[in-house]
Amino acid sequence: MKVYKFGGASVKSAEAFRNIAHIIKTHGGDKQLLIVVSAMGKTTNALEQILNMAFNEQRYEAEYQHCLSYHLQVSNELFPDKASLVHEQLEHLFAQLHQVLQHLPTGATYDKTYDQIVSFGELFSSTILHHFLKSQGLANSWIDSRKYIQTDNTWREGKVDWAWTERTIKRDLPALLNTQLVVTQGFLGGTNNGHTTTLGREGSDFSAAIFAYCLDASAMYIWKDVDGLLNADPKHFEDTVRYPEISYQETVEMAYYGASVIHPKTIKPLANKLIPLYVKSFVNPAAEGTKICDCRFEVIAPAYIIKENQCLISFSVKDFTFISEKNLGTIFNALSELRLKINMMQNSAISFSICTDYHQERLHRLMQTLHDQFIIHYNTSLYLYTVKNYDIISINKITTGKEILLEQRTRTTFQVVCK
Ligand code: ASP
Ligand code: MG
Repeated sequence: MKVYKFGGASVKSAEAFRNIAHIIKTHGGDKQLLIVVSAMGKTTNALEQILNMAFNEQRYEAEYQHCLSYHLQVSNELFPDKASLVHEQLEHLFAQLHQVLQHLPTGATYDKTYDQIVSFGELFSSTILHHFLKSQGLANSWIDSRKYIQTDNTWREGKVDWAWTERTIKRDLPALLNTQLVVTQGFLGGTNNGHTTTLGREGSDFSAAIFAYCLDASAMYIWKDVDGLLNADPKHFEDTVRYPEISYQETVEMAYYGASVIHPKTIKPLANKLIPLYVKSFVNPAAEGTKICDCRFEVIAPAYIIKENQCLISFSVKDFTFISEKNLGTIFNALSELRLKINMMQNSAISFSICTDYHQERLHRLMQTLHDQFIIHYNTSLYLYTVKNYDIISINKITTGKEILLEQRTRTTFQVVCK
């Protein structure tokens, strides 16, 4: 039994859907395969924008229409038959979305509303994929992942109830997978009282890993627009190299430092059951790709990771006393309350600096909480560069010509925050 995950780029057009059917026919088979799909193209970003406009009581009709026509254009191309059920189902889903937008639940927080709206992207794409595979002779069941992956109500970052989720998946899915393919949504979970949650941006990889874990899959595949797991993002670096095989450990660390290739939570469930993860190209499915598994290598090419939109915050005490453990405790508590994650930190006698992703609103609340006790300075629009398994050449490559605000190195990892 295998799990395939197809990301946004692999369902961005009618052509892309045809390519998926081709990959399943040539590589996947007609059963014992569960397919997890992301929202089409940049739909999640578009829905975030629509939500923000609705939330701020701005007009969102044009953006909504744009999202609607994008989906209709693809589905009309894939299903010229006007009577196909897919048209009715899409129409129904868009009507539901419109309904939620027009009657935003009063008093609901932004994050909760986010999950109820942005989740539609995966409902649209999985509906289209289900019908399209069927039309290509690939019998499959569409299942609602919100009924299988149960989370708490940590909106936008639902924490999975593993016991419940595993029990439910094991109860229903193995029998179904014995006879046909199963298509479901990435990114989504559900609470025990029927609300939709999401698992964090790019969370579809994690969804696929949850299903793989609960089904004791023999392998999971992520189909991407790159040739496998590369040592750097080709958008930012030339001469990238592909890792043919790499350990779970290395991959987790790369994801942790911000390599966007795999969602950070994906590896743990797979490693716990020694399920290999293949990263393959949907453009070139015959190519080898990368196998992520329980292996070890002495020498490994340096990995370059860039995190953009970083914010460097420094806290100093007001009276020239030292930064104490007590002060640090206060700062950490505030960060954890606000779900501001530390990407890098450093302390000196009278100040403590952290680098985090920039969240305007959370930063503002952090300042409010702590300004009585600390002098706080911050810089935004920064980059955090990490080089894993660095050497002199790789450090020079990263630092030459840059203004460095903070630098740190361990035996294996080199990090700088720069402008
Ligand atoms: N569609 C969601 C996102 O773009 C989840 C995913 O693609 O993994 O973040
Ligand atoms: Mg994606």
